[in-house]
Amino acid sequence: MKKDCIFCRINSGEIPSATIFENDEFRVMLDRFPATNGHILIIPKEHVEDIYELDPLVAARMFEFATRFASILKKTFGNEGLNILQNNGKVAGQTVFHYHLHLIPRYENDSVRIGWEANSQMTSEELEEFVDKIKSNM
Ligand code: 5GP
Ligand code: ZN
Repeated sequence: MKKDCIFCRINSGEIPSATIFENDEFRVMLDRFPATNGHILIIPKEHVEDIYELDPLVAARMFEFATRFASILKKTFGNEGLNILQNNGKVAGQTVFHYHLHLIPRYENDSVRIGWEANSQMTSEELEEFVDKIKSNM
């Protein structure tokens, strides 16, 4: 529990939340400032700041819930699509520094914009170089 962390304060019950499901490890709740109808967050109960602090096995169990809630949201809201989003670091858009997964139902003509322009086209040599570089850290 981190005292100044909003999600820890939600987990401790100090701040109310619209919780849909919880167990010992996770909470699934509505985002208070949703991008679209049905935007939910899955958060671990333990304070971890970002993916670099998250146990991969906890992440695996969390994604099981992401999969289940994707279907539940679709059944509930009839959304045509869904984005799963997870931001790490300020530069990547993280604003709450307690790890969380976003499930954002998508609708025709909604106002969500997620995307990027390709910033280059890799040559085969460059691709190979990056593969080797990454492999050297595995
Ligand atoms: P991030 O930008 O860190 O990926 O996402 C943080 C999310 O937390 C945002 O979508 C924001 O709307 C949501 N959020 C911020 N404060 C609260 C809160 O007090 N309660 C809930 N349920 N969501 C919050
Ligand atoms: Zn926290």
